[in-house]
Amino acid sequence: MKQIQLIFQDADTFRKKIAAVRDKYPECTAMMQFFYDKTRQKETEQAIAILKKEYPQAHYFGCASNANIENGMIAEGSILVVCNIFESDDVQIEIFQYVLTDETQKDVCDDFLAKVAERPWVKGIELLITIRDMSTTYFCDRLSEMDEKIQIFGGSSFNKNLDRNDVGVFSEKGDFLDAGVVFVLIGGEKLHIWTSYITGWKPLGQKMLITRAEANRLYELGGEPAYDTYYRYLQIDNDEFFYHNTLEFPIFYERNGINILRVPSRCMDDGSLIMTSDMATGSMAQISYGDPQTILKSVFHEAERLSDFVPDGILIFDCASRRSFWGSEDINRESLPFQTIADTAGFYTAGEFHRMGKSLNQHNVTMVIVGLREDEAGDSNKSKLLKKYHYNNEHVSMVRRLANFIDVASRELDETNRKLEAVNQKLMKMAVTDELTGIFNRREIQHRITEAAGKQEQFSLIMMDLDNFKKVNDTFGHDEGDNVLKGFSSVLKSVTEQAASEVSVGRWGGEEFMIIVKAGIQEAAALSESIRKNFSEMQFPVSGVHTVSCGVAVAHEKESADSVCIRADHVLYLAKHQGRNCTRTEEQIPE
Ligand code: GH3
Ligand code: MG
Ligand code: MG
Repeated sequence: MKQIQLIFQDADTFRKKIAAVRDKYPECTAMMQFFYDKTRQKETEQAIAILKKEYPQAHYFGCASNANIENGMIAEGSILVVCNIFESDDVQIEIFQYVLTDETQKDVCDDFLAKVAERPWVKGIELLITIRDMSTTYFCDRLSEMDEKIQIFGGSSFNKNLDRNDVGVFSEKGDFLDAGVVFVLIGGEKLHIWTSYITGWKPLGQKMLITRAEANRLYELGGEPAYDTYYRYLQIDNDEFFYHNTLEFPIFYERNGINILRVPSRCMDDGSLIMTSDMATGSMAQISYGDPQTILKSVFHEAERLSDFVPDGILIFDCASRRSFWGSEDINRESLPFQTIADTAGFYTAGEFHRMGKSLNQHNVTMVIVGLREDEAGDSNKSKLLKKYHYNNEHVSMVRRLANFIDVASRELDETNRKLEAVNQKLMKMAVTDELTGIFNRREIQHRITEAAGKQEQFSLIMMDLDNFKKVNDTFGHDEGDNVLKGFSSVLKSVTEQAASEVSVGRWGGEEFMIIVKAGIQEAAALSESIRKNFSEMQFPVSGVHTVSCGVAVAHEKESADSVCIRADHVLYLAKHQGRNCTRTEEQIPE
């Protein structure tokens, strides 16, 4: 295979150039792709007429471009004809062209998928497309249905004013279309295709959830207007430089498991952003930054891989945003390394297409690279590449150091926040807990009684007091007294855990306890009895068995917390007087 690049200057010279190619490769299969400046469409039509006349068997197609890539370098305002000449007759080419709009895209995909299915020889599909304001999600998803072994790559038409509507595609199958797609099927035993893509942009800071997006309009990130993110983190104003400023900080968007870049091209009054392509609600997004060092490192890495493939010719579909990012001179730094491997041609696009595994994706701010080869690989040009474009790993740019700083600092901040949160949880627990018994302290249980009294809910209080506790201390010492308090609390916890109603248990003070039961007197009294009985059956190795007296009172409507507590205390007093180790309720108080 041979790649020959012809530049159209005038009709006569072009005619001679075409005739020369035809005469040199009379038996070959020729695939001619035109990348042209939209303002020179008339001349492009003239060039096509010459090609048809002089070289009728050549296949042709093309699109308007933002600028072209000739011999690995940018060329502005040109009409470039990239001739891929395949020497063996085993290589096949077939072209299809469709009008493509929101309305036609389903039919286009149905028809085209059926055509591809009928052609088992297809190895790769190049597509040139006009995107305009169309969402390409459906289109990409449908084309992803085709046999995974078919590689898909290409770009969308553009012009030098970055106007998405003033675009066009054409082919041997029809006229110029301002809303259309051209598919070029290539295949054959001896044809080999290598594809890859490069971003070189790096994620920066936190991942954010896309909380609202519709097609290419991004409304909200993390529940806030999307523009706020740009303003808060990057101080980018919504003025005429918005696109140029955000270009360095596009959004990484996760689709089909890979990071895809999207640039906000416009900011709307409601703070939503018009992105260069679709983004989906529910996906994760992250601001990214463009750093020349990182980009060149990625370029070098891919160029090295491609040199191992030993291509006969290279096609590049490079985003026009990258050109704006680098500037028209420096942009060559990312395309020229490929020219040391093989002749490299292409154009600056409004969107780049690349199939990865099964899924076809539309990228932005990305470089799609395609290597084509006929027959087995010859000698590699790797040494030439390595000699000329050695990537110097030692030099790390200021931007990368700062980005790394932000990355590490935000991770450290996350970690500190997590630790603080744990400390906070512990402190909050301590503030409401009685140290000795682990149940609620007086303040918390009192607070809960006040809260319960404030709501119009039914609740009862059980007040409990250990019997003859002074004697335990006097006989066995204070430590054994503490031990009994803990033992009693464990009974409180285990019995109330199984209660049907909501229960809060606290230490009222000394050997007195208070239980709130969100239920009526009957249930509270039953619970009280269960606690009392369980405790009386507990054997303490040092001091033996102990008992508790319990008083139960139900809160009256609109009764204050203090008043219910006093009544519970009264009933408890009754229990003490009626012999201890028992539960008494208000009903049992004599008038
Ligand atoms: P009654 O059956 O009438 O309730 O008799 P009592 O001895 O339990 O009553 P009294 O209120 O006279 O005694 C309570 C004792 O509880 C006094 C105090 O020594 C003891 N006490 C209070 N708090 C603690 C504590 O935290 N640890 C220990 N070990 N004893 C405590
Ligand atoms: Mg007491
Ligand atoms: Mg007591």
